[in-house]
Amino acid sequence: DSVFAAVVQAPEDPILGVTVAYNKDPNPIKLNLGVGAYRTEEGKPLVLNVVRKAEQLLVNDRSRVKEYLPILGLAEFNKLSAKLILGDDSPAIQENRVATAQCLSGTGSLRVGAEFLAKHYHQRTIYIPLPSWGNHLKVFTMAGLSVNAYRYYDPATRGLNIQGLLEDLGAAPSGAIVLLHACAHNPTGVDPAPEQWEQIRQLIRSKALLPFFDCAYQGFASGSLDADALAVRMFVADGGECLIAQSYAKNMGLYGERVGALSIVCKGADVASRVESQLKLVIRPMYSNPPIHGASIAATILKNSDMYNEWKIELKAMADRIISMRKQLYDALSARGTAGDWSHIIKQIGMFTFTGLNSDQVAFMTKEYHIYMTSDGRISMAGLSSKTVPHLADAIHAAVT
Ligand code: PLP
Repeated sequence: DSVFAAVVQAPEDPILGVTVAYNKDPNPIKLNLGVGAYRTEEGKPLVLNVVRKAEQLLVNDRSRVKEYLPILGLAEFNKLSAKLILGDDSPAIQENRVATAQCLSGTGSLRVGAEFLAKHYHQRTIYIPLPSWGNHLKVFTMAGLSVNAYRYYDPATRGLNIQGLLEDLGAAPSGAIVLLHACAHNPTGVDPAPEQWEQIRQLIRSKALLPFFDCAYQGFASGSLDADALAVRMFVADGGECLIAQSYAKNMGLYGERVGALSIVCKGADVASRVESQLKLVIRPMYSNPPIHGASIAATILKNSDMYNEWKIELKAMADRIISMRKQLYDALSARGTAGDWSHIIKQIGMFTFTGLNSDQVAFMTKEYHIYMTSDGRISMAGLSSKTVPHLADAIHAAVT
C-alpha cells in the first residue's frame, strides 16, 4: 500500500473549480464568467502588443543571460514599480524610505508581506473585508497571522457598508493590520468614494492600524493608472507607513509570468534599509530569488516612454471594453423588464460584478443556460462580449422570475 494511502481527496478550489466544470460541459453555448482573466470581444486571451514588442527586444538582445536575479529581484523593476503605484514625484521614494521586493505576482507579494509581518511586527491580527478575495484568508493564515473580518459590503444597497466598516476597524486592537483593496474590490466591485477613503484613513491613522494594500487592478478599474492609485497615495501622503502588494497579471496581461512587487513604505531611510535586509531573509528559504523573464518585460515597458504610453492606451482599451459590457448588460436587462434594480451593474467597477444572485439562481443558470460563475453570484465582465450579453440577460431574467 502507498505510504500516502491516508491522504484524502482535496476539494477543488472554488474559483478554479468553475473552469473545471465549464471545460467538462459539451454544450457549445456554454459561457465561463468565473475566470479572473481578460478576454477579447471574441472570447480569446489577449497578449498586449507592447508586451510582444518588449519580448522581441529582450530576445534580440544577445547580451542577456539567464543568471540568477538577486534575492529581491530586478532592481530596476522594483524602482519602476514603486514609482508606478506611488507616483513620479513621491516624497517617500525621493527620501529612500520604500523597501521593494520583486515577488511572484500579487499572491506572492501578499505572502512575502505576511511572512515579514508575522516575523517582525508586534501585532499578529489582520482584518480583511467581508467578503474578500478567497485567497486572502488562506495566505494570511498560512503565514501565521490571525484573520478577522471587517464589514464591507451591504447586500441591501449592493454598495459599501461604511458605517459597519468604521465600527469594526474602530473596535480593532491598536496596531492591527488592515487589508485594503486599493481599487476594484474583488469580488464586489464596490470601492469607497474618495471622501470615504479619507474617513478610513483618519480612523486607521488615529488607531495606529497598519494598512496593507492589495493592488491587483491598477489601471484596469478606471482605465487610469493614477486614478486607481488614489487611495494608496492618500495613505502615503500623510507620511505614515504601509505595505503594498502589486500585480501585473491584469494590467499588463502577464498572468502566468507571475510578475509583482511588495513595497513597504517606512518612516525613514534607515528603517527601510533594515526592513529590506530582513525581506531577503524571508525570501531566501522560500524560493531563493524570483524569475527573470516577466519582470524584464515589465521593466522594459515601464522605462521607455513610448512603450509606456502604448501600454496605457492598451490598458485603457481593456478597461473601456469592460465598462461597455456593464452598460450593455444593464441595457439588456432593462429592455427585458427584468424585476429588480440592476443599477449596481454600472455602478460597480473593475473586472467583476457582484450580481446579487444567490447560489440557487447561479445553479439554475448553470443547469439551464450553461453559464458558469462562482456560487456567490460574481461574474467576470471580462468574460462577456456583445454576442454573449443577450444569453446572459435571458438567463438572469429567467433566474429571478
Ligand atoms: N488580489 C486580488 C484581490 C485578486 O483579485 C487577485 C487575482 O485575482 C490577486 C490578488 C492576485 O493575483 P496574482 O497572484 O495572479 O497577481
